[in-house]
Amino acid sequence: ADMTETLGDGEALATLHRVFGYDAFRGEQEAIIEHVVAGGDAVVLMPTGGGKSLCYQIPALVRPGTGVVVSPLIALMQDQVDALRALGVRAGFMNSTQDFDERRVVEAEFLAGELDLLYLAPERLRLDSTRDLLSRGKISVFAIDEAHCVAQWGHDFRPDYLALSLLGERWPDVPRIALTATATRATHKEITQRLGMPKARHFEASFDRPNIQYRIVPKADPKKQLLSFLREEHAGEAGIVYCLSRNSVEKTAEFLSRNGIEAVPYHAGLDAGTRAAHQSRFLREEGLVVVATIAFGMGIDKPDVRFVAHLDLPKSVEGYYQETGRAGRDGLSSTAWMAYGLQDVVQQRKLIQGSEGDEAFRRRAAAHLDSMLALCETAHCRRSQLLAYFGQDPHTPACGNCDTCLTPPETWDGTVAAQKVLSTVVRLQRERGQKFGAVQIVDILLGRRTARVIQFDHDQLSVFGIGEELSESEWRGVVRQLLAQGLLAVEGEYGTLVLTEASGTVLRREREVPLRKEPPKPVTSRSGSGS
Ligand code: ADP
Ligand code: ZN
Repeated sequence: ADMTETLGDGEALATLHRVFGYDAFRGEQEAIIEHVVAGGDAVVLMPTGGGKSLCYQIPALVRPGTGVVVSPLIALMQDQVDALRALGVRAGFMNSTQDFDERRVVEAEFLAGELDLLYLAPERLRLDSTRDLLSRGKISVFAIDEAHCVAQWGHDFRPDYLALSLLGERWPDVPRIALTATATRATHKEITQRLGMPKARHFEASFDRPNIQYRIVPKADPKKQLLSFLREEHAGEAGIVYCLSRNSVEKTAEFLSRNGIEAVPYHAGLDAGTRAAHQSRFLREEGLVVVATIAFGMGIDKPDVRFVAHLDLPKSVEGYYQETGRAGRDGLSSTAWMAYGLQDVVQQRKLIQGSEGDEAFRRRAAAHLDSMLALCETAHCRRSQLLAYFGQDPHTPACGNCDTCLTPPETWDGTVAAQKVLSTVVRLQRERGQKFGAVQIVDILLGRRTARVIQFDHDQLSVFGIGEELSESEWRGVVRQLLAQGLLAVEGEYGTLVLTEASGTVLRREREVPLRKEPPKPVTSRSGSGS
């Protein structure tokens, strides 16, 4: 684009129509784009699938020069660039997967002003050669995607992100937009500080989807449970059923079909033709059920999906939110239904242990899983817990429209137990300047003289052995639920436990802590035989 053209709202909207083929902006997109096009910095918190990409792609197209997008998702760059090129956008990327020649082509295009968008891996910006290259071209906007990666105690911390503060110093006239789908209040502040964006305007889209009813039921005979759910509440309506494996996708689709529900499978093992046919039937028809792995749904924008069902536990709250978010785009009431059981936990833990990722990856995956489990186990409103997870107002009132609101689960008064856990964390930190994970905290509470307890003299703490009334697994349940309620937080690589702002209210006895009763052990468990 050319600076002499008018930069009014008109041009952003025209670009939305002409390039992307959409009718209107969604939610905050328009305000964000207007602000950045006018040269302002922005920090954007928006749910996955909310439409963050357009927030920088349109300013990049409207303002003169190339939009530089910093993204840690190297594996996605090729796809993103291909998708943009298919729309006629001149896009390129630079990362470690390219050879020298490929990179030189992109560099030449950038210098010649032939790129609208250039995707860069953050580590590229540590290289003087990259910075020099950028200095020799014209940049319209810097977009910092997955901006929470700059937060040092977050699950996804990337040291390379710390160097991104130089962008503002070196290119003070180029607007910057930092985007993320996950950010607590504290992370939001950290993003602003570490990226050096004190003047940035903050945009926080609501993560709330009031027309979706969240329900998580104990898993008994999942296929039958699903069938009654569909028959009783969503007969003849379109929806998605998510399963973990291709095999269970096939079996579930068959089962539903046999029982008079129009259902088709969708997973990466089917040939491209079948997949495309099933997808287009789903988009066209009114009452088709697609049984799918998570391969299904990317970029699907069907407004009248009435339910999303999970027969297996998603790996993270982000995944759960994104998948359930495909329901009810038309604003009409819809259901997010999940069957969840002990086996899910076992299965997911095994998957993490058997994964090829390194130790840090496994720890991140475990933390993600714990948050998902906490959502399953909460005694509180699922919606407010979901919103709190994404860093939105933790005081959101109960919604009255989720299963825990409609049928409150049995709870016990965990106030004293919570105080014991929190005091242990406080003692370690105040008296010893130490932080530890759940295992050590529970060992201290139970008064166990393990090697690690002895090593750190933790049997000398006044809290040593104050929690013998509960079992180890009950204590782990307490810790997990405190994490879920935001009364305790996990920090850093080692998953150490730390207090949150809200912890004080428990320690000062200003509030009670109701905890959900732990689900009973399965009858067939062999570990119950008293060994
Ligand atoms: P995010 O990066 O926030 O996860 P995306 O930018 O990938 O989300 O957008 C999610 C989906 O929504 C994409 O398929 C995108 O094309 C679509 N989308 C975004 N904005 C609009 C809009 N204004 N109108 C219609 N579809 C949109
Ligand atoms: Zn609720």
